[in-house]
Amino acid sequence: MECIFCKIASGEFGTEFLFADANVVAFRDLTPQAPTHILIIPRNHHEDVDHLAVAEPATLAQLFQVATALAAQEGLTGHRTVFNTGESAGQSVFHAHLHLLGGRSFAWPPG
Ligand code: 5GP
Ligand code: ZN
Repeated sequence: MECIFCKIASGEFGTEFLFADANVVAFRDLTPQAPTHILIIPRNHHEDVDHLAVAEPATLAQLFQVATALAAQEGLTGHRTVFNTGESAGQSVFHAHLHLLGGRSFAWPPG
């Protein structure tokens, strides 16, 4: 298995999960871009959200439900949820993941 997020989801690195069930796990980003920066991922490998949406639409919805719960758990008054899709959009890990960011103000438009 080559995919780093598949390895994390399998528990290979002993990563602390903020949420985990049969389909989804959530853990803190290694290089946080905000005071709260959590990654919420499907356990199954899909290279990006476009593929996830076709293959497992219910899991895609669940990623956002988990984001809502974790935003409340973190005490966020607002949050930003992001999927980067493709290298030109900043995707660097090709296992679909939802970024949950909060704890500071965010600019718009994004960089
Ligand atoms: P992308 O750039 O693909 O949208 O987001 C990938 C994210 O994964 C980045 O924010 C990066 O910091 C994070 N990341 C990469 N490798 C690891 C890792 O081994 N552990 C954790 N917790 N985060 C990682
Ligand atoms: Zn994977």
